[in-house]
Amino acid sequence: MSRKLLLENAHIEGIRYYDVYRKNGGYRSVEKALKMTPEEVVEEVKKSGLRGRGGAGFPTGMKWSFIAKPEGVPRHLVCNADESEPGTFKDRYLMEFLPHLLIEGLIVSSYALGSNTTYIYIRGEYAWIPDILEQAIAEAKANGFLGKNILNTGFDCEIYVQRGAGAYICGEETALIESLEGKRGNPRIKPPFPAVKGAWDRPTVVNNVETLAAVVPIINMGGEEYAKIGVGRSTGTKLISACGNINKPGVYEIDMTISVEEFIFSEEWCGGIKNGKRLKACIPGGSSVPILPANLLLKTAKGEPRMMNYESLADGGFATGTMMGSGGFIVFDEDQCVVKNTYTLARFYRHESCGQCSPCREGTGWMEKLLLRLEKGQGKTSDIDLLWDIQSKIEGNTICPLGDAAAWPVAAAIRHFRDEFEWHVTHAAEAQTRNYGLAHY
Ligand code: SF4
Repeated sequence: MSRKLLLENAHIEGIRYYDVYRKNGGYRSVEKALKMTPEEVVEEVKKSGLRGRGGAGFPTGMKWSFIAKPEGVPRHLVCNADESEPGTFKDRYLMEFLPHLLIEGLIVSSYALGSNTTYIYIRGEYAWIPDILEQAIAEAKANGFLGKNILNTGFDCEIYVQRGAGAYICGEETALIESLEGKRGNPRIKPPFPAVKGAWDRPTVVNNVETLAAVVPIINMGGEEYAKIGVGRSTGTKLISACGNINKPGVYEIDMTISVEEFIFSEEWCGGIKNGKRLKACIPGGSSVPILPANLLLKTAKGEPRMMNYESLADGGFATGTMMGSGGFIVFDEDQCVVKNTYTLARFYRHESCGQCSPCREGTGWMEKLLLRLEKGQGKTSDIDLLWDIQSKIEGNTICPLGDAAAWPVAAAIRHFRDEFEWHVTHAAEAQTRNYGLAHY
């Protein structure tokens, strides 16, 4: 049984509302934090080892300590609720069913960072959630946890919900800031980093929904206690949104000590592969991380069981980070066509490219066309090499990580499933008629 810190009370009827949330221990972390100095709150988060839950896995306490503090200039905290990574829906669950947990985490984090005006930037497609968040904000304010002079400590804080308009790129922090300012969501060149020059040129920290919610148990239990949960540098718990060809899709909270095999096949979690099929592959952290074939997914390069944590999910041919990503766990059964699924992802990235950089703007479109040609059995072997060449020229040559995110799935698919790409060339007639299903993401 994995420990629960965020979803512990998710089953309680009415937990979405202030009275029930408060009765079950809600807002204790605000009472505790506001008796500490902001620096002490940052220190607790550093001690906890919390890593950003949006995808990059950067230490949150360290990120907070980078914020510039020029005299007389307001600072902002922005909650990144633009959860648009295919396969990822855990922030939606938190906001929909535990909105006060997020608001509580935001108040504590705003205090730590000195933000008196804090924003939640939420993806446009989550059209029904802003009302839930605004109701929670109003309830928190009516009970003295937001507004002027919170709990008579002299700390003022307002939280505003800003709706996005449906662009994936606005999940990138500088594009999000541009959009928040009312402009087109184009990523900015860094430096300057948002911690120095962010929203309206003011020092700004952008954190993911789950990251900010995790601040609540950290303050309640203390950073050191939180760091004892999990393993190594993968401390605390992590939400995973599991989908694809599994018996029990859903949002799960894990303490990062279980193996990938256990997570997929245990009744407590995904409940095994649907319809008794065999496991073929998995994208373990949202569509921007590589697809892994079953053998590499279940065992590390050293032959040890692969675990559901940042370190163990870091040696799958993904040079620049961890495959834990955003926690979007997409499982493929033996009937899934890797070429078709890679095409679907390429189409997504081509559609979502903002078009500022040539490698991303042109490369994503080129990859989509080549993948479609191959998938339809109209491609040549040289198309596979061309595809490899294009993805390698996108990676590392763009303003923002969307370019890398578009290149990595293609690279991993060719690296691990080249024979399947070749099959689409050598069995062209069959490829044209074969009707593969798509994973449900
Ligand atoms: Fe825009 Fe793509 Fe360049 Fe990012 S990498 S700035 S999405 S064109």
